[in-house]
Amino acid sequence: MSRPEIKRDSTRYLLIGYLMLSVLFAALWLLDTFQLDSQRVLIDSTDMAAKKMRLSADLIEVARSRTRLSHEMVSEQDIFARDDIYQRIESLAVEFTRLHQELEKLPLKENEKNILAGQSKLYPEIINRLEELSQLGFEETDEANIVARNLIIHEIVPRQEKVVDGFLKIMRDIQSNISASAQTSSVQHASNVAYRYTLLVIIVIGSLVVLVWVARLMSNIEVTLQTQSLTDGLTGLSNRRCFDYMLTHIWQRSLRNKQSMSLLLIDIDYFKNYNDFYGHQEGDWCLKEVANIIKQVAYRKSDVAARYGGEEFAIILSDTDVTGAQVVADKLQAELRGRKIPHLQSGVASFVTISIGIAAVKPSFDLNEEALPKAADGALYQSKETGRNKASIASGLI
Ligand code: GH3
Ligand code: MG
Ligand code: MG
Repeated sequence: MSRPEIKRDSTRYLLIGYLMLSVLFAALWLLDTFQLDSQRVLIDSTDMAAKKMRLSADLIEVARSRTRLSHEMVSEQDIFARDDIYQRIESLAVEFTRLHQELEKLPLKENEKNILAGQSKLYPEIINRLEELSQLGFEETDEANIVARNLIIHEIVPRQEKVVDGFLKIMRDIQSNISASAQTSSVQHASNVAYRYTLLVIIVIGSLVVLVWVARLMSNIEVTLQTQSLTDGLTGLSNRRCFDYMLTHIWQRSLRNKQSMSLLLIDIDYFKNYNDFYGHQEGDWCLKEVANIIKQVAYRKSDVAARYGGEEFAIILSDTDVTGAQVVADKLQAELRGRKIPHLQSGVASFVTISIGIAAVKPSFDLNEEALPKAADGALYQSKETGRNKASIASGLI
């Protein structure tokens, strides 16, 4: 025969609860990792932007120096000094190219690439003009000076300014990008913090729910176990353990309150014959029927109806003297008689009958509670001996 399945609900729910909490903690950890990653990306991009800014500022500085030197060159009368200035302009051109190349090597955005490409076109023109300028310097005539001035004012300076404008635009774009991404990152940070707190609140509430859930389950299990440990499985009446406990309890209470208490021991007549004739299953059914009648009769909250042994039952009646107990016994027998459960093998009737032993007592210190079942058993024996299907009252205890 296979054993009944034992449900391990509390373990299952605890596991589900822990799993849920683990998932939430993992989410919290992932959120932190993402936050760190996004901060790293931001730092990297800020670093790159700073490099571009620095190079653009240097390039502007070089372009402006070159414009300044071009002006100087045109107002310089001495041809050697002019040549000297040209040399300086040329070395600035070298520096400009170096910085330009360095900037081109960085990862550039599309608009930055376009600006630099435009400048690369402008650049040879500026160099050519400067070369023209240097040639003019050697001729030393007023006309040459006028041409040179025109060259500087109308050709070189506007182109240089265009170059400077390009870098200024790059710098402005970077600046607005930085402030935009800083804004995005602070918004992202705020939403991350919100997610974090939401997750933490869910974790706290979740663990409380799991805790309450498991605690309720455990207490339900405890109640079920306790009920089961005190109940007879077949009839649903109190079992012998419960009977023993309640007998002592009611005895003590009656002793304190100086009240009477009674006990009815009930035994089905010729039940062995019933079992043998109708079968064990029918016997069980019969026991349940008798138990139901007992429940019906011992309806008071303070009454204890129990299965005392195989086909024996007991009723403890609080605050009840022998007269009251007799009334309950009569009622019980009347109910059973009315129920008419066939028993063709009974020696007393064609229906199931019971014999009852009644004992009533006013508990006192010179007696103990064991005296009551003993007396009721004596009375039951008397009922059996004197023809069954009757109730007898124990003498001597009252
Ligand atoms: P008496 O009138 O003297 O009480 O005779 P009896 O046959 O009722 O008495 P006895 O004590 O000889 O038989 C009791 C029978 O109750 C024996 C057993 O077969 C039956 N019995 C005890 N417990 C159970 C049970 O749980 N289920 C069933 N079906 N029968 C039970
Ligand atoms: Mg018996
Ligand atoms: Mg019997």
